[in-house]
Amino acid sequence: MSHKGILTDVTRCIGCASCVTACREANDTGSPVPTPWQPDVNELSATRWTTLDRLPGGRFVRRQCRHCLEPACASACPVGALQKAPDGAVIYDSARCMGCRYCMMACPFAIPRYSWDTAVPYVRKCVLCHDRIARGEATEPACTEACPVEATIFGDREALLAEAKRRIAEKPDLYVDRVWGEHEAGGTGILNISDVDIPLPATVPTDPLPERTMKVLRTVPAVFVGVGAAMVSLRWLIGRRDRLRAEAASGDGHTEAPATDEKENH
Ligand code: SF4
Ligand code: SF4
Ligand code: SF4
Repeated sequence: MSHKGILTDVTRCIGCASCVTACREANDTGSPVPTPWQPDVNELSATRWTTLDRLPGGRFVRRQCRHCLEPACASACPVGALQKAPDGAVIYDSARCMGCRYCMMACPFAIPRYSWDTAVPYVRKCVLCHDRIARGEATEPACTEACPVEATIFGDREALLAEAKRRIAEKPDLYVDRVWGEHEAGGTGILNISDVDIPLPATVPTDPLPERTMKVLRTVPAVFVGVGAAMVSLRWLIGRRDRLRAEAASGDGHTEAPATDEKENH
């Protein structure tokens, strides 16, 4: 199955927020209310899985989970509550989630939110309307379906990437020569093109984050323990060899091994 994605063209977006409303209604998230820990209801929250950011020149850009090709959130989750689905959506299984929130720390885009005000809190973020589409209730996400000007469209990521490049090539004087999401964090399912810069968090790398960090973090302790054990074994073997040589040289069976070896082998 091909990787699905969303292409948003900032030059076409009119900032109507129909995408935001449609997401809330389709996913029954409830309405955001100001809280002491998040007074801004326009910010992403457990009840707002997509939002709009203002850009220079009166532009807007959508912000939501970017459905990374190699999602750091899923790599960080110790119980597999976040997983990459065959269609590319990064989906969430609340029954598996143990609430550790490692995913929130791992996401370079700072996307997942936690439903702090519920009795049993869950991690919340856009899931690319995966379940609704899989159940046949929709053929595309609610947000893209709701957009009145097709500023945000759903499709195969490769086709969307080609369309993004086609638009840039067609109007090089209009667009910044960049498809946001083509390479960031190893590539994402959410793509943007724009005529103004779209700032990303400084934590967003251009190579896959799981490769760069999570695998390293996971293998360091094993490597450390393995190397440590190997070094101890090596020192023991060298010490034993030295003692045997000393015995052979003295011919009396008395061990002449250096004191340092004895000390280090204990
Ligand atoms: S944007 Fe964050 S939450 Fe979404 S898939 Fe990437 S790492 Fe996971
Ligand atoms: S894809 Fe679905 S869950 Fe994600 S922002 Fe759009 S409507 Fe919301
Ligand atoms: S519905 Fe379309 S035009 Fe309106 S804010 Fe969302 S992306 Fe922009």
